[in-house]
Amino acid sequence: MPPCFLIRVLLTFALAIGTAFGADATVDIDMTLRLDPSGRTITGEARLRLPAGKARRLLLAKSARLNSLSIDEQPARRRNRVRGALRSWSLPNEAGTLDVSWSMALAPTPTHLDHRDTLGRSEATAAQLGSFLPAAAHWYPGLLVDGEATMQRWRVTIETPPGQRAIVPGRLVEAREGEQAWTATYRMDVPAEGIDLMAGPYRLSERRMTSIDGRALSLRTLFHPEIEALAGDYLDALAGYFERYEKWIGPYPFDDFTIVSSPTPTGLGMPSLTYLGIEVLKLPFIRHTSLGHEVLHNWWGNGVYPDYAGGNWSEGLTTFMADYHYAERSSEDKARSMRLGWLRDLTAIPPGKGLALAQFTSRRHGVEAAVGYGKAAMLFYMLRERIGPAAFDDALRRFWRSHRFKVAGWSALREAFEAASGDQLGEFFAQWVEREGLPRLTLVGAEDGGAALLQDEPIYRVRVPLHVRSGMTRQVLLAALAEPRHRVERPAEGGDLLLDPDFQVMRRLAPVEVPPTLRDINLAGPAQLVVLGGDLLGDAAGEIAHRLLDSEPTTVDGNPPSPERPLLVIGTPDAVDGWLLRHGLAPRPEQVGRRGELQAWAGRHGDTQPLVVISASSPNAAQAAARSLPHLGRFGWIVIEQGRSSARGQWPSTPQSISLRRSGEGAN
Ligand SMILES: [Zn+2]
Repeated sequence: MPPCFLIRVLLTFALAIGTAFGADATVDIDMTLRLDPSGRTITGEARLRLPAGKARRLLLAKSARLNSLSIDEQPARRRNRVRGALRSWSLPNEAGTLDVSWSMALAPTPTHLDHRDTLGRSEATAAQLGSFLPAAAHWYPGLLVDGEATMQRWRVTIETPPGQRAIVPGRLVEAREGEQAWTATYRMDVPAEGIDLMAGPYRLSERRMTSIDGRALSLRTLFHPEIEALAGDYLDALAGYFERYEKWIGPYPFDDFTIVSSPTPTGLGMPSLTYLGIEVLKLPFIRHTSLGHEVLHNWWGNGVYPDYAGGNWSEGLTTFMADYHYAERSSEDKARSMRLGWLRDLTAIPPGKGLALAQFTSRRHGVEAAVGYGKAAMLFYMLRERIGPAAFDDALRRFWRSHRFKVAGWSALREAFEAASGDQLGEFFAQWVEREGLPRLTLVGAEDGGAALLQDEPIYRVRVPLHVRSGMTRQVLLAALAEPRHRVERPAEGGDLLLDPDFQVMRRLAPVEVPPTLRDINLAGPAQLVVLGGDLLGDAAGEIAHRLLDSEPTTVDGNPPSPERPLLVIGTPDAVDGWLLRHGLAPRPEQVGRRGELQAWAGRHGDTQPLVVISASSPNAAQAAARSLPHLGRFGWIVIEQGRSSARGQWPSTPQSISLRRSGEGAN
């Protein structure tokens, strides 16, 4: 699972917001809604108080039916225009208020989605088991000014049939349970991006706490009955996060926070609430990781809005202060492997195929996740290393105080960090935010027995920790690189020199530094396949290859495999061991031994090509493993017993290193 499993889906129109809206370009929406989940309809009446301006248009989904429109309390008929799934009406320049009545049929709530399918979905759906109407579906009337969506404040009253409850972001003003209907009113008093509506057969649990500035906060869960028992633990966890982040950054900007369960495997954060799949909420680690990430988005993302036109910094800062912070609190080892994970994912992006942080808006595919989450989080890690934790935290508080409920870009962040540290950070931010790609550093021995750090063009300015290990002593040298070749002074005592072994520098890792995993076999083009042990494994070997490989392999019979292409070796244990020995490859690792019925491990052959070896004691074991192996790709080795992995692990990374002679020893 990547460091940030749950993400905040950017509402499609939010992309356009960027620098476009000013403080007064906010529309106030007051509406009353009736949602019928089984009949799959929503009807509503809304009053929009418009910000002044020209070229304003009323906006609504094309599939909605406009029942009436009044402008300044006069019934109006206006021409409309259809673009894609949207319909819009031009408005007279002097118009101050609109009264709109409309209704809309909703699609059925999908029941077979995986998490990936839920990313970026913008369809309004309804069912008894759960309804979700994302703002991006334009299920309620909105406003365009000069072709761009405006920010919104709202007061929303929602009525649902008894047994159902509904929620939108904002403060719960009141809720009433009647015989005919359940009704609740919510208010959002600060400009926000749009109204997402969720409803379901929810049970409510609630806890009160006092915010750091003395306000009463309400923490709630709206859970489906089958997970109602989890509410207490989730409320405990929530209280802990609010205490932590209020102390760290400043007061929570809203009065309520609700965790809402979803029948689909969703993971969304909105102002004052998070919408998480029932199956996700059942996972025990969610309250220790992803929940904190979603809570923190109320400061970064829904409290200060990223300037999407210049790159979304909010995912990186949230990942650093949530996911990474929890790893760091747990152990230095966990923190180090999270940094390695970020660099590893960034290294997997071929040079020139990535994007700059300035271009990141939201996660749609792996490259965007690696950059928008991992690279940005690594930037904040390096920044804290550079200016120290006190100045770093001071900058966060400054940034929060001055940009709450405003749009802020990377430059506003830079200014806060400069003010807090007294450091000039222009070059630092420019090279990590505006440039695509990463520096590639190589440690080499020098003729005089010392060493040099080489850097590929284009050059970065970067401080690189070099570890000197000699006998029992450990020493860290900081090399300040600003050129293609940097001489490293030879320490008097000699020893081993290691390049950034704790992954503290944003850089493209060398192949030796990236620990092999089973999924690497698909990174470097079509693989070669060697099947050993004759007919013993039957069709099972082919079945494994088919499931594990993205493309059809070339079968290697008798001839030695090419060292320039990935290699998959499948066979019985004795045949596999003999074959590895004959071809001069590393033997079966002791971690797997001959445990269980099947062992699989990743390594390398040739110089850098991925190698995966699968050793199975029976066709049944191989057949069973064919199903589970593709889901275990992030591991370096696996033991399978009775069709399930009974032991698994990752290989350590090998740092770039060279041996230094002691000064006085001649070169020879
Ligand atoms: Zn996030």
